[in-house]
Amino acid sequence: MKKEISERIDSYREEMVSTLRQWIRVPSVKGEPEEGAPFGREVRRALDTAMETAEKMGFPGRNYDGYACDFTLGEAEEEIAVLGHLDVVPVGDGWTVPPFEGIVRDGRMYGRGTSDDKGPSLAALFAMKAIRDSGVPLKKTIRMILGCDEESGWECMRYYQEHARMPETGFSPDASFPLINTEKGMLHFLFRGRDEAGVLKVLRMETGDRMNVIPGESTALLEGGEELADRVRAFAEESGLKITARTAEEGVWVTAVGIPGHSAYPEGRRNAIGMMLRLFRALGAEGPLKTLADAVGMEHDGAHLGCAVRDEVSGPLTCNMGILRLKDGVWEGTLDLRCPITADLNQLTDAVIAHLPGFEVQDLGRKEPHHVPADSELVTALLAAYEEETGWEGKPMSTGGGTYAKVLKQGVAFGMQFPDEQDLAHQADENIRIDRMLLAAKIFANGLIRLAGE
Ligand SMILES: [Zn+2]
Repeated sequence: MKKEISERIDSYREEMVSTLRQWIRVPSVKGEPEEGAPFGREVRRALDTAMETAEKMGFPGRNYDGYACDFTLGEAEEEIAVLGHLDVVPVGDGWTVPPFEGIVRDGRMYGRGTSDDKGPSLAALFAMKAIRDSGVPLKKTIRMILGCDEESGWECMRYYQEHARMPETGFSPDASFPLINTEKGMLHFLFRGRDEAGVLKVLRMETGDRMNVIPGESTALLEGGEELADRVRAFAEESGLKITARTAEEGVWVTAVGIPGHSAYPEGRRNAIGMMLRLFRALGAEGPLKTLADAVGMEHDGAHLGCAVRDEVSGPLTCNMGILRLKDGVWEGTLDLRCPITADLNQLTDAVIAHLPGFEVQDLGRKEPHHVPADSELVTALLAAYEEETGWEGKPMSTGGGTYAKVLKQGVAFGMQFPDEQDLAHQADENIRIDRMLLAAKIFANGLIRLAGE
């Protein structure tokens, strides 16, 4: 049976490529809502295109008012869900190929949505087709759900949950192989504290606009002249940090250049705000700036915030100051903490407040951690499928990011970026290896048969 499924999927190659091209040619970036198209006309067109594909394959589909659609294989009461999405992020700069053409070059298809998440969704759909065409008897129904608002507010899944029965178990091919079974909890804070200028007076600073981004550059205007500029340069030299100073009529302009990134993955990055705080402390900052430099500075493990916790399953806590600005004499900034699954979020909140005296700390919301045990049937079956099809070791992973999988009570992210591939989601020249799309379809089919087959 395994060989038959594999051969079938190989035989779908041309059809998979032409169908994916058709899907990529719909620029399903979120737009203005219209009747039946809550996320805009193009997203609705992507939904219609996907439903047409499924209908041609013989899967009965249902459209949930433009929010999501689903297709099923089998009629059993118990269900396994496969969760993908049809919306894409805006194109952005730096493309060397047209982003909505589906051009194939050197065995790869290029285009916005090829890897996130149209390619993976399509691979899973063809896995369902292979199972059906091979006549595999099923004890559970396979339900594929395609959402239309994953890249924004997940409104699609809320709507779906209100209008359909969401399966409890399943996977989302919207991240990486081997498998992600642990998503850290999330804490977001806004802090505010009145400026207290002492030896050092900051006249202007406004860095960052999103709390989940590690700022790669920060600029501030300090009161002072050439002597201060020299002290900045001396600090840069001594610390080895990339900080420059330029004297102007209005004061000293200081710029710190770090390494930008996503707040959930601070390893190997360098927060430019943190660099600036270390400089300020060296220049004699007092009050709120010293507090921030002492409690956070360039640390991303929360050590001096009293938050340096970790556990074996999820790894260490991470902490990022994505925004820091001086507005009308008040310092205002954000902290984004990604917390191990065993951490007590209330306790961490108390620690943050205790370590930022003089600041008013506002809780901007949290996300509870999500975890499916490594020895559960879901995880062991999917990893066995991965190992069998690839010959590579399959180990469950933890992430500080959020995946679509947590929509399901017992959901994991499974594929389809392979460990030897670069993450191109949301980037220029997003593409997918066509042979890997076929391999992923085989892995999905293998996993689904283990979970849903008789
Ligand atoms: Zn995605």
